[in-house]
Amino acid sequence: MFNQTDEMPVIRRIAVVGSGLAGLTAALLLGERNLAVTVFEKSRGPGGRMAAKRVSGGSADIGAQYFTARNPAFVRFLAHHAGDTAFGIWPGRFGYQNRDGKWESFPDERRYVGIPRMTAVTRGLSSAVNVKAQTRVERLIRNGEQWTLRDADGESYGPFDAVIITAPPAQAQELLSNSDLPVLAEELDEPVRHIQPCWAAAAYFPDPLEQPYEGMRCQDDVLYWIANNSSKPGREDKGQWWVLHANPEWSRRHQDTTPEQVTEEMVTAFQRVTGCHQQPGEVVSHRWLYAKSSSSDSPGFRWFGDHRIGLAGDWLSGGRVEGAFESARGLVNRILPD
Ligand SMILES: Cc1cc2nc3c(=O)[nH]c(=O)nc-3n(C[C@H](O)[C@H](O)[C@H](O)COP(=O)(O)OP(=O)(O)OC[C@H]3O[C@@H](n4cnc5c(N)ncnc54)[C@H](O)[C@@H]3O)c2cc1C
Repeated sequence: MFNQTDEMPVIRRIAVVGSGLAGLTAALLLGERNLAVTVFEKSRGPGGRMAAKRVSGGSADIGAQYFTARNPAFVRFLAHHAGDTAFGIWPGRFGYQNRDGKWESFPDERRYVGIPRMTAVTRGLSSAVNVKAQTRVERLIRNGEQWTLRDADGESYGPFDAVIITAPPAQAQELLSNSDLPVLAEELDEPVRHIQPCWAAAAYFPDPLEQPYEGMRCQDDVLYWIANNSSKPGREDKGQWWVLHANPEWSRRHQDTTPEQVTEEMVTAFQRVTGCHQQPGEVVSHRWLYAKSSSSDSPGFRWFGDHRIGLAGDWLSGGRVEGAFESARGLVNRILPD
């Protein structure tokens, strides 16, 4: 049997809210320790912000662009659970615009992507996980030592001995407030303030664009990042799909602007930054309300032992894909120390 801390009742059944990288990591690691895990996901499929949008001829990574694996344990984990063909190195050139507007190269680093799209990673990870999709958890109800989950349609699930919430802080806070846990919810006031939105677009150019880099961080009033999605391994686009991310300030100011207006302004900015005057043949967009955390506070995870509720996610650990993995791993090790 597994070891658990003395002060804690035995945990056998765990609910995980969210099937992004953090939720799937937690589920797989808990499963390895023989716990019964159910993952609840409000969207149609797993992946969260490691997202791809279907476009003509393929798909475009509209959320996370690539991920690092500074901790080799992360690559081992992905290869083991998602399979080593689900991801690979993006052998692109990466640069940034300095304050004077000049382009400089980023230092070399291994940047990984899902193949043939970012969601291949989370699809692979989820294949051995019990994910209940299209189930938005609205409330946690405590019955003695256990929890029942109530979804948006009034369905109940449980009982569970513990709950791990991996939603971004605003959604985690809402869930805790709805669950009569105001003190826990209040603890998220600060993280909620640090969450930044991001307007994303993908634009198709039938004729390849000549640019010095495949991934470019811009100094621009509108754009923060542009990337040639078609240069990633396993994409077989005829022309080129470019992904455009607006900066947080501009995205916040345009939170309620129509997608048509937003994409028009983002494409104009793209032409300004790249010097390209080709009009895109197709453009799709997505608004991320909770894209990234600007907080420098990195506690790793939160575990409220008295309630047997844990919080994990990128926003607790550096705000990136690899941080989501580290956060979930840290929380599982806290709940079930070796
Ligand atoms: C535009 C953009 C660009 C990015 N670029 C990069 C990059 O290049 N490199 C990098 O490392 N990172 C990048 N990131 C960040 C990266 O995507 C995240 O760090 C990582 O995917 C977060 O994983 P997570 O599991 O913590 O959260 P998420 O992926 O957000 O997963 C949370 C899940 O919880 C679900 N959920 C929320 N509330 C509920 C509920 N009540 N009931 C059920 N389900 C619920 C959501 O639907 C979601 O699937 C980017 C993010 C964005 C948006």
